[in-house]
Amino acid sequence: PTALLWFRRDLRLSDHPALVAAVEAAGADGAVVPVFVVDPRLWEPSGRPRRQFLRDCLADLREQTGGALVVRSGDPARVVPDLVRETGAESVHVSFDAGVYGRARDTAVERALGDVPLVRTGSPYGVTPGRLTKNDGTPFKVYSPFARAWRARGIHSPAPRPDAVPWAEGLRSEDLPPAQDLDGTQLPPAGEAAAHDAWALFREQRLAGYADTRNLPGTAGTSRLSPHLKYGTLHPRTLVAEAEPLAEDHGEAVERFVGELIWRDFYADVLWHRPDTAHAAFNPDMQRMRYDTGPVAEEHFAAWAEGRTGYPIVDAGMRQLHGEAWVHNRVRMIVASFLTKDLHVDWWRGAVYFHDHLVDGDIASNHHGWQWVAGTGTDPSPYYRVFNPTRQGQQFDPDGTYVRRWVPELRDVPDRYVHEPWTMPGGPPDGYPAPIVDHAEERQVALARYQAVRDA
Ligand code: FAD
Repeated sequence: PTALLWFRRDLRLSDHPALVAAVEAAGADGAVVPVFVVDPRLWEPSGRPRRQFLRDCLADLREQTGGALVVRSGDPARVVPDLVRETGAESVHVSFDAGVYGRARDTAVERALGDVPLVRTGSPYGVTPGRLTKNDGTPFKVYSPFARAWRARGIHSPAPRPDAVPWAEGLRSEDLPPAQDLDGTQLPPAGEAAAHDAWALFREQRLAGYADTRNLPGTAGTSRLSPHLKYGTLHPRTLVAEAEPLAEDHGEAVERFVGELIWRDFYADVLWHRPDTAHAAFNPDMQRMRYDTGPVAEEHFAAWAEGRTGYPIVDAGMRQLHGEAWVHNRVRMIVASFLTKDLHVDWWRGAVYFHDHLVDGDIASNHHGWQWVAGTGTDPSPYYRVFNPTRQGQQFDPDGTYVRRWVPELRDVPDRYVHEPWTMPGGPPDGYPAPIVDHAEERQVALARYQAVRDA
């Protein structure tokens, strides 16, 4: 028989349960049709970094399938059934998609396929969203108990890579989607081999120090695997399986690293249970939070987006976003706090801006990362947590390495002024702005607005 393997966020051949299922369905003398559908509903709203990275992943996958990958564009509810008719496929294999759009799309495709089954095997997560619940059957709302349950349950071992896949040959394919003009943004190499190289580099050189360096944006201390996890050129199962043997020597580091992968699963689980939180506050009370709008808020938003707020760590973070389409986690928190609590702009606008510009942009991790910082989300003690951008800079980038890398105007500023250049005798260096707001004052405004929500 012929089996169709529809790739989505699983652009790899190793540790791929749906591929294993497709090969089994094809049997000894059948064929597997590998297909990727360029769906305008996902492609059009994607920012250029993600389009380019996806394109590069597809180029790699095409090579890995010996040129067999079939690329077609259009609505999957039309394209996939058409390809089934064209090839006589008896089953369509996918990894389960827990996303808000992906769920609806898969239901539509399933209906359009009629008698041909859409077989879901595996998901992009360690634990498939929706599987872990509290003892009373309700969803987890807080990370720590979710993480305990996740660790207690354990996750599957990696799926074996099939020795040889009988790829179907000679089907019509469109060209890959067009290369994007990235305007100088530097992306990491994409594809399965690149993902494994990044993982090997991290595992061998950085993982041991992860617990100490993961919060230092000036140090290459984290894995930078987020775009690979986003597009599934690597699966978290592989990471956990290969990290755990290192726990004997580097227990805390491995636990921390796995803990971050659990955050990813947690947010996907939250979004699965609460699809509305892609737009609305997870904590319904926080729908009442008052944000600024109008010309001043627009000016503030533009200054934030362009990295000219006068707060060095904030500006460095936003410039890293444009330079690399990626931002260090500590700095994502700092810039998100600044937009929502110092500039009082709705978290949703920041989340959309991030999502457009990040190469790892992902609704679950991004929108819930924003909600966590904004105090509208799953943080169990959200009130009064207002990041001080100067203190954060001094604590996590003590000698200003990170700031100097991204804000050249501050390259020659002495260490003690690098996070508060407005205190320099004579003011900040030419070309670098004075702070657009006073943090101490805006902190009070933010706290008063939180209090108003609580009092209501
Ligand atoms: P590492 O420290 O090496 O962690 C390993 C992996 O664990 C990451 O690749 C990621 O998949 C996962 N992970 C780590 N931290 C988190 C976290 N807090 N939440 C969820 N997963 C995590 N992550 C995205 O993948 N896409 C996003 O769009 C995204 N937006 C964010 C927005 C905000 C405001 C915040 C605060 C965080 C966001 N994150 C997002 C989470 C986190 O910042 C990135 O996953 C991390 O910086 C990626 O770098 P890394 O691969 O080197 O991480």
